[in-house]
Amino acid sequence: MPITTIYKNVYRVGGRDLSFIYDSNVYLLRLNKNDYILVDVGTGQGLMNLISNIFELGVSLHSIRYIILTHAHYHASGSAWWFSKTQALTVAHEPDASFIRIGDPRYTGAENLKTKFIPAPISINIRENVDEYEINIGENSIVILHTPGHTRGSISVLVTYKQDDLSILFVGDSLTAILSKRWLSNEVEFKETVAKIQRLVKEENIEILCTSIECFKGNRVREYLKQVSAENPVWV
Ligand SMILES: [Zn+2]
Repeated sequence: MPITTIYKNVYRVGGRDLSFIYDSNVYLLRLNKNDYILVDVGTGQGLMNLISNIFELGVSLHSIRYIILTHAHYHASGSAWWFSKTQALTVAHEPDASFIRIGDPRYTGAENLKTKFIPAPISINIRENVDEYEINIGENSIVILHTPGHTRGSISVLVTYKQDDLSILFVGDSLTAILSKRWLSNEVEFKETVAKIQRLVKEENIEILCTSIECFKGNRVREYLKQVSAENPVWV
């Protein structure tokens, strides 16, 4: 499977078909001429595939400024330890940030896959009571939104390309209706998150929404949200 272009300068460079069977999607975004960010990094078991996909796009690891981890699960953040050795700043929201830092086997879900979560330092640790956190990179901005429920510190990343008047929302697993006490999931918060994202899609005119496994465009964004809001979360 080739790297997928989601939108100009927005690529899917990792995922179950691109890097490793258990990897969440990994998105590489170019924000300015030489400033990139990564949203999630996969398990680490397909690290070489992921890195070669980044190189295939002609992007140097030195150009990656931020690594945004949508939540502490192994499939999304497992290779954060490796990327923390680059110049990029890693970003996560509490309490997921703390579970990544200690490599908690239960919270990260690594023990279910009979593997270890290698602890990773987090450079920007967004506090529990912070709902929105903005990062400016040149003329474009990224807004990190706290979207708890699936895990307590789940976040979504809103990227606006001002020159194109286009917004893309990366939600990780924030809309994945699988909950567990081990991840401090909360059903009420999950439903509030779904409603919050529905409102946001309307207000911010979000054209593209990407989850940990797929991307939706235009009308399909609304259809997908409608489907999620009708689902009853499953506790595992
Ligand atoms: Zn998850």
